[in-house]
Amino acid sequence: MFDNLSFKLDRAFKTLKGTGKITEINVATTVKEIRRALIDADVNYKVAKEVTDTIKTEALGRDVLISVSPGQLLVKITQEELTKLMGGTKEDISLKGDPNVILISGLQGSGKTTFSGKLAYHLKKQGRQVLLAACDIYRPAAIEQLKTLGEQIGVEVYAEPDNKNALEIASRAVEYAKKNGKKTVIVDTAGRLAVDEQMMNEISELKENLNPSETLFVVDSMTGQDAVNTAKTFDERLNFNGVVLTKLDGDTRGGAAISIRHVVDKPIKFISTGEKMENLDVFYPDRMAQRILGMGDVVSLVERAQQSFDEDEAKRINAKIRKNQFNFEDFLSQIEQIKKMGNLKDLMGMIPGMGKVIKGMDIDDDSFKPIEAIIKSMTPLERENPDVIDGSRRKRIAQGSGRTIQEVNNLMKQFNDMRKLMKQMNKMGGAQRALGNLV
Ligand code: GDP
Repeated sequence: MFDNLSFKLDRAFKTLKGTGKITEINVATTVKEIRRALIDADVNYKVAKEVTDTIKTEALGRDVLISVSPGQLLVKITQEELTKLMGGTKEDISLKGDPNVILISGLQGSGKTTFSGKLAYHLKKQGRQVLLAACDIYRPAAIEQLKTLGEQIGVEVYAEPDNKNALEIASRAVEYAKKNGKKTVIVDTAGRLAVDEQMMNEISELKENLNPSETLFVVDSMTGQDAVNTAKTFDERLNFNGVVLTKLDGDTRGGAAISIRHVVDKPIKFISTGEKMENLDVFYPDRMAQRILGMGDVVSLVERAQQSFDEDEAKRINAKIRKNQFNFEDFLSQIEQIKKMGNLKDLMGMIPGMGKVIKGMDIDDDSFKPIEAIIKSMTPLERENPDVIDGSRRKRIAQGSGRTIQEVNNLMKQFNDMRKLMKQMNKMGGAQRALGNLV
């Protein structure tokens, strides 16, 4: 996400390194480069100009403290301005009403159905009773797709496959929700490949009659400036409450994300970064600005971990680490948990400074495959008692997993180093606890 923009901005700030103070001349050069980086990332020209003009004025108006370099100051100002540009603060969706209706709008292929599932899952995790209503009446596969997603996340789907009247289906879904104690109805609607009058009429009719607490506009961020234009057209007819940006995991330039808020004046509420149900993030303008500037986003990383990690499993593993009993079964389980957190490259980009390091590298869930293959070729005895794995066992494991003996040796070494470290930490923790008891 935003790899190229981050890289170019970083280069722009570097031009300021080493200079002792901010002057009209050196800021002008850097600001010009920032503007170019934004435009290259597909940020609307007018928006890029406005924001960089503000950055320049701000930079010249501020005294550089002895403790910060001009480069650092400019990064800070840029972060503040990007945050403002993307809306300043996080905005929640409204869940008022019993049941409340959330209407999902957008073009075909933008990711509406996938997002409907993700939002249902997100709300379910917060303990809400959710119903999904399949109102994409033109694409029969959409109903099936929603049903499959519903099954996967354990959320009921209301559908009437033979009915071609979206409003009827949605209204009955709301009735059904009332009778069955569901608190939120998410209505997935039909899109078209391009904006067309009939689609607009249909979605407007749904909005007028269903009185949703929230109407969201879903847009594919890979469509660049078109995303901004489509958002404008939808907003003129629907007056929606918020935007959902999808496919930010792709090789997108992401500029739409930055300018959409400014152009449409509606908040971005969620971003979607993959096809899995877990790949949904609440949109925080400040965190996004940090990510764009390669400053990482540790808060989101921790939140993702908290959401994805199974607490009981974490406790069990923790206990095993404390007793120095961590084995390959536990290792495998940890890999599974990490995979649940989402796209690996995206996760690593949340670590400050890491974005630059992994730029252009091929990192995905497949990176774990060799390790998983090796561990899965071990017998249960070997997994639970790694110390029994001698030379001949290693050879057999390599053959069984289709990996080289060197790879098996490497994994064994890494695993043993990890256990050593765990042991040391346990000892230190023990010493600290002992000290704590003394004082
Ligand atoms: P709809 O026509 O608006 O309902 O769009 P779908 O939900 O069917 O999505 C269209 C395609 O985009 C599907 O293949 C989805 O799996 C995919 N998709 C949706 N959201 C994302 C995302 O955030 N990232 C990626 N990579 N693919 C996505």
